[in-house]
Amino acid sequence: MSTNCKHPLTTLYKTERGVVFRCPGCNHFNVVFGPIILPHDAGGFLALKRLVETLEPDGNPSTHIGKRCYHLQAAGGQVGLAFTPDEIEELRALLTGAAAMNELDGMLKTTTLGPAAPAAEA
Ligand SMILES: [Zn+2]
Repeated sequence: MSTNCKHPLTTLYKTERGVVFRCPGCNHFNVVFGPIILPHDAGGFLALKRLVETLEPDGNPSTHIGKRCYHLQAAGGQVGLAFTPDEIEELRALLTGAAAMNELDGMLKTTTLGPAAPAAEA
């Protein structure tokens, strides 16, 4: 996992509390949501998106911290994150938006063959 990217990052997508940065050089992602920063390579980013999309509220209400019923393990289980339904909804929108922008960017790169040809004289 390339989590040691030192290149300048560009903003891929933003929500009220979140932003996804990406390095155009090595395709490193930084998912920032509130005080949380989750660095990922492209594969890790898509895995995180799938995980958040399919995340269900924790089945045991005694583990809920107020409304924070969506639990996610990070950093190999060393860090546990607890989200409210509202936050999970926004995090899903953030990751979906970022993935769409990333796909669009990839399409533009593969279909752009250089400077546009000058318009034909009439
Ligand atoms: Zn980089």
